[in-house]
Amino acid sequence: ALTLDNVSKNFGTFAAVKGVSIDVRPGEFVTFLGPSGSGKTTSLNMIAGFETPSAGDIRLDDRSLVTLPISRRNIGMVFQGYALFPHMSVEDNIGYPLKQRKVGRAERQRRVTEVLDKVNLEEFRKRMPAQLSGGQRQRVALARAIAYQPPLLLMDEPLSALDKGLRERLQHEIRSIHQDLGTTVVYVTHDQDEALALSDRIVVFNEGRTEQTGTPAELYAHPDNLFVAKFLGESL
Ligand code: ATP
Repeated sequence: ALTLDNVSKNFGTFAAVKGVSIDVRPGEFVTFLGPSGSGKTTSLNMIAGFETPSAGDIRLDDRSLVTLPISRRNIGMVFQGYALFPHMSVEDNIGYPLKQRKVGRAERQRRVTEVLDKVNLEEFRKRMPAQLSGGQRQRVALARAIAYQPPLLLMDEPLSALDKGLRERLQHEIRSIHQDLGTTVVYVTHDQDEALALSDRIVVFNEGRTEQTGTPAELYAHPDNLFVAKFLGESL
């Protein structure tokens, strides 16, 4: 299980995250949902290791992550602006985390082919990142995370740059890797409909705090307060 225990993050005098506690069960799909600036990305970045908490602890299977280097966390990530390696082709980008984990060449090739098909980029296999559109790069980043099959996958608005048809298709892919592989997913979005479609549970963020945590049905049927009711209502 992944646990955020009273986690805070200050940037100078500004408190971006204020004493957040969240439990994510193994295999669960949990979405951080909230308006821009509410602390979702900062919270995810602390799990990833890109930011260090100012206070509190983050544990994965009872082991504190806070002092563990990023390279040893064994976490897959699809982040806004989390760059592809510019000097590597699409297939090498996708295969890289597998190579690092000593997956053999034939198996790497097989998985690369499989995920390129899933994200609809078969014909781009030999291209370099500079020869791709923003949305295509985002799909390569998603393919890389899917191929890697990490026990914990963090995604920050991975579908935001894509058009509606592709977004729905990839929502379906994200759901199926979560279900088929039993991957624990923490997903960040400001899109209520996306959160509703994907999540086992949703954590509603507002101004650096969590307002409510629950299943989509619980949140819609029994919002704890006016903020949650209004924010979820905006999707309708
Ligand atoms: P969005 O959906 O717009 O990405 P968010 O909910 O993910 O929003 P965060 O990116 O976590 O929000 O930001 C929370 C607050 O912390 C914002 O007010 C932001 O300006 C501030 N913040 C984030 N990173 C830094 C930083 N490195 N230095 C100073 N302030 C920061």
